[in-house]
Amino acid sequence: MESSRRLEERLKHFNEEQLKLIFRNAAAIQLTDGCNSCCPDCGLGAKNGVRDFIRFDFLKTLFSDYGSELEKSECPLYYASEPFDYQDGSKGYQDVHNLFIKCTGYSPFVSTSLPKGHEEEILRFVLGYNRPNEQEKNRFFTRFIGRLSLTTANYERVNEVFQRIASELGCEDKTLDEWVVRYNKDRKDEIKRYGCTDSIEIFDFYNEDTCGELHSKRLGERHKDNLGKNGIICKHGTLITPENVYNLQAVRPSRKHLLGQILTPIDPEHFEIIPSAKLGRSYSLFLLKGRKRLK
Ligand code: SF4
Repeated sequence: MESSRRLEERLKHFNEEQLKLIFRNAAAIQLTDGCNSCCPDCGLGAKNGVRDFIRFDFLKTLFSDYGSELEKSECPLYYASEPFDYQDGSKGYQDVHNLFIKCTGYSPFVSTSLPKGHEEEILRFVLGYNRPNEQEKNRFFTRFIGRLSLTTANYERVNEVFQRIASELGCEDKTLDEWVVRYNKDRKDEIKRYGCTDSIEIFDFYNEDTCGELHSKRLGERHKDNLGKNGIICKHGTLITPENVYNLQAVRPSRKHLLGQILTPIDPEHFEIIPSAKLGRSYSLFLLKGRKRLK
């Protein structure tokens, strides 16, 4: 597959000051258009199957030109996409991630559904990079991979790879079940995805977050008659995708905004930016922040 290069064309229409604002307020950079995981309840409305991506060489240019802006934004490198779907020739997600660290100085948060065929690569990647250096540790609380999504769709295949690696590392007595906590032990379809329950050093990257839930957020067309109260999005700001740049505003899910988001293409002629803001303790306050604009 070739990149459409639509983003490259689009960015030519903005001036330097506008581009700086776009990258400084980035809520996310979405490396691919579409997602190969095709989760039936995707709360971000990802299209089924990857159909476009941002070229690695172009990412190099963006990260090097706007590294200091992106550092302020602390954006992740995925949105309605699976990071490990990324492929441009021999370059995969790890290459993009490492390039990003080099240019911005920080390691962005990564959540992955462990797509089929990438289990080994991801687990090895996680195990090899779970210890940030001291300098990084002080500056950023997020580790290399913050979250692995385990469901009945991937559990068995991930477990198989996990067992092989654990055995190689001399931890054959450890099982996948020992470092994930099941949401409900009686229901295999509700496997909670976080939580190292003991002190196995190599898996302690899992301790990061213990409050996530795997229940459907009830978003999108499928849930239009019984929408969830909150969307899945926890940031306002700009969204950079393989095709365009958008303002991304989180709102209450409604018939009009089934995913609890408003995506507006950014127009260089009528330029305005939603300042980057993260969800804090108050969801209502967070929603209010999404109404602000920078001109
Ligand atoms: S992996 Fe994430 S982005 Fe992809 S379909 Fe599943 S929930 Fe959506």
